[in-house]
Amino acid sequence: MGHAYLYRCEHCGFEKSFNEGHGFLIHSQPVKDYLKKRTKLFHYKTRNLIKKLAEKNSNLFLKAGFQIYKCPKCNLLYDKIEAVVYDDGKVIHRTRFRCNRCKTRLKLTNIHRLKRTICPQCHNKTFRIDNSSKKLWD
Ligand SMILES: [Zn+2]
Ligand SMILES: [Zn+2]
Repeated sequence: MGHAYLYRCEHCGFEKSFNEGHGFLIHSQPVKDYLKKRTKLFHYKTRNLIKKLAEKNSNLFLKAGFQIYKCPKCNLLYDKIEAVVYDDGKVIHRTRFRCNRCKTRLKLTNIHRLKRTICPQCHNKTFRIDNSSKKLWD
C-alpha cells in the first residue's frame, strides 16, 4: 500500500503528485522471483546490477518501493523506485539517485515534515503539500 501526496504551487499553479510506499508490483520478494518477471521496475543498470549480485548469491531478497527524495542543493522533489537488496537481513545494495538539474545526490526526505519547497516550474518557494487530496494506491 502506498500514498500519493499532491503538491501545488501557490505562485504558478503547477501541480505534481509524489508516490511513497509499496504497491501491487512493487513489494518485497526473493531476487530469483524478480529476475523471472518481465516487468521493468528499475532502470536497466539497476536490473543488471541485481542480476550480477544474484549470480554470486542465490538467496538474496529484494525490497522495492517508492520513496520521496529531495535535492539538497536545489530543493526539488522526486519520487523514485528504490531497490534494496538484502543478504540474510543485511543491506548489500541500495539504489542511489541524482538530481536531473544539478546532479547532486538526492536525499531521502520526510514528506510529513516538508510543507513547502521549491516549485519545479517557477522555482519559487511556494510549492505546498495539499493535505486534502492525499490518496491511497495499491
Ligand atoms: Zn510555481
Ligand atoms: Zn539539484
